[in-house]
Amino acid sequence: MLKANLKSVTGYAGADLDKLNRALLIIESLINGDTFKKAVLNFATFQFTTYKCLGPIKMRTVQLQEFTNQQIVDILMKGHRQQGADTYMDLQLLLSTDSAGSAVGQTDDNGVTTTYKSALDNMIDGELAAHLTHEWTHTLGFTHSYSDTCDSTRNCLSVPYAIGNIIELISTGECWYGCSYPSLNNHP
Ligand SMILES: [Zn+2]
Repeated sequence: MLKANLKSVTGYAGADLDKLNRALLIIESLINGDTFKKAVLNFATFQFTTYKCLGPIKMRTVQLQEFTNQQIVDILMKGHRQQGADTYMDLQLLLSTDSAGSAVGQTDDNGVTTTYKSALDNMIDGELAAHLTHEWTHTLGFTHSYSDTCDSTRNCLSVPYAIGNIIELISTGECWYGCSYPSLNNHP
């Protein structure tokens, strides 16, 4: 089983910490389940190319390392480390009261995920679970495909957004970023 371990947690207290713990339970229960695994295996199609948009012109820039759907499942389920029969996502989480416009949060090179309280306050538990899952995939090395005005939904197919959105769709039936995934409707 893949378990969510709070390696460090800063700034979460009271109701925020309760919400965080509920979100971690959602992640653990969904990510180890058949529905999540099937959704990833049947996902059409993860995008590993980055683009730069110049006005309406889309320029291919970087071809990231590609993985098959099965490889993505394997990488996710390995987590950061194995201990006994279980694997672990070692989460380093920071809740920030800084003002960050519309940003929800981000993860730095040391694997610390900052989440803005202004965003957290507007999230239901399943949305927080999706956000934390998205950020966790960054700590495993997955990056965005980068959307821009010329292709606003391309990022939906990058591993961080797709995996986060799969968690959110299973949990809440909806997902952010204007993404829709026919493969998830066909293979719930
Ligand atoms: Zn991201």
